[in-house]
Amino acid sequence: MEYAVEYRKGERWNQNPDRLYKYMECRLCGQFSPVSEDTTSTVCHECVMEMTDPPEINRRGNTGKPSGWHFMKEFVDRNGNVYHKGVEQPKLKGTLPPTKIEKKKRLSKKEMAARKRKWKARKSDFGSGTLWKYAQTVGPAYLGAPTHPGKKKEVKDYSEI
Ligand SMILES: [Zn+2]
Repeated sequence: MEYAVEYRKGERWNQNPDRLYKYMECRLCGQFSPVSEDTTSTVCHECVMEMTDPPEINRRGNTGKPSGWHFMKEFVDRNGNVYHKGVEQPKLKGTLPPTKIEKKKRLSKKEMAARKRKWKARKSDFGSGTLWKYAQTVGPAYLGAPTHPGKKKEVKDYSEI
C-alpha cells in the first residue's frame, strides 16, 4: 500500500522554515503528519492516542502486597495465600501467618538534605575499554537517549508510533 506523501515548508516551532519536510497520510485517518525521509507508512499521534489505553493507575497498596513481594523467597498475604518468589503455593494456603509488612519510613527534609550532602558520584571501575567507550556515547535518559547510531537507515519512524 502506498500512502500519499506531501512536501511542506517547515512551519512548526522545531522545523526550519527554509526546508521542505516530508508529510505522509496517516494509514488510519488520512491526516498528514511529518515523517522521516524513508518512512513508508505512519500512524498520526491522534490515532496512536486512541489506540492506547490511559496510563494504568497504580493500585499498589490496595492489594495489601508490598512492593517487591514477587521477589521475596516466601510471602504470605493477608488471606493466607503463600507465594514463593511470586508463585502461589496453593497447598500451603492458610498454614503460615501473613508476612508482616514494615512500612518504609519517609525521610524528613532534613534527613534528605543531609544524605544529599554526603552523596558522592561513584567512581567508575572502567577507565578504558568497551564499557568506557560506551559510557562516552550515552547520556541521561531524560535527555532522550542521545545515542542512536544507524537511525538514518531505519525504515520505520519510531518517533511516529
Ligand atoms: Zn490518524
